[in-house]
Amino acid sequence: MIPVVLGGEGEVLDLGQATRLFTAGQTAALWLRDRVCSFPECSIPAHWCDAHHLIHWLDGGVSQLSNAALLCGRHHGGAPATDCSGR
Ligand SMILES: [Zn+2]
Repeated sequence: MIPVVLGGEGEVLDLGQATRLFTAGQTAALWLRDRVCSFPECSIPAHWCDAHHLIHWLDGGVSQLSNAALLCGRHHGGAPATDCSGR
């Protein structure tokens, strides 16, 4: 059995390590939470950003909001996790 956390519409928001990718529902929740790219001083709007694991999935990071931050195309892939707020 794999525990999950559901959002208001019954959308799964916490998948643990069951999947590597964030769901559309998780990404929508991050849009509401973060509003802009999580890299310091970056103001790229959330809907132009991708969900990023603060602790990479391959290193044991889980696909849940507490381990996620939105990053724009410029900062996704090049940003050390310690630089992102994951608000
Ligand atoms: Zn950015």
